[in-house]
Amino acid sequence: MDKLIVIGGPCSVESKEQLEAIYPVIEDSIDIFRGGAYKPRTSVHSFQGLGAEGIQLLTEVSNKPVISEIMDGADIELFKDVDYVQIGARNMQNFALLKTVGKSKAKVLLKRGLSSTVSEWLAAAEYLEYYGATEVILCERGIRTFSDAGRFTMDLSAVLKVKDETDYKVIVDISHPAGERKYISRLARAAVSCSADGVMIESHNDPDNALSDTEQQITPTEFVKLIDELQQIKKLISKLEQ
Ligand code: PEP
Ligand code: MN
Repeated sequence: MDKLIVIGGPCSVESKEQLEAIYPVIEDSIDIFRGGAYKPRTSVHSFQGLGAEGIQLLTEVSNKPVISEIMDGADIELFKDVDYVQIGARNMQNFALLKTVGKSKAKVLLKRGLSSTVSEWLAAAEYLEYYGATEVILCERGIRTFSDAGRFTMDLSAVLKVKDETDYKVIVDISHPAGERKYISRLARAAVSCSADGVMIESHNDPDNALSDTEQQITPTEFVKLIDELQQIKKLISKLEQ
């Protein structure tokens, strides 16, 4: 495949105005529009997301397929209009959630857990499929290691391994391992060069004032420019690998 699967949009859905400032700019560069409505925040005092309203805004503003993270199986009904249900890193081994989401016959993006091995990640994907998920895409989003160079360590060997040994599509979330926006483009080039089928990159119209992940979001204009470059790299890599 010489085109990347591109997922873009803000870390969190904050308002309709915010989505309308982002979506039209990146529309032609993305396949799937993202936005968190239920946010897994370390601190209870941090923005927790707009919940059901966030899901509704996301589907309202986007003409493209949308993706949002589910944290609680009890919310599954609210995700019926969401094209891809995201299972976040912190819930990769929440087996009750995997069963509920699988049973809903959803298409799923399964993030790798912060400290999960590749085999645990694949076992979680198997749960989803066993219970009925109609599609599973895997997403490497950085793991916890002793390295303090980035927010998380982007494990590109895992991408190669999974692509080598399975038929899953593997995309790389560049934003969360990068942690800082100045590293996004170079890490993204590395991921695409390492056979990633796609990328997820967070983009916000006013990154400095975002309600979550302030440091790592890039503007919609920067996003479009980067995706254009990544698509060219993808084409070149596909040719080299033929
Ligand atoms: C996210 O995509 O906004 C998110 C919270 O991701 P992760 O589960 O990888 O931390
Ligand atoms: Mn985020």
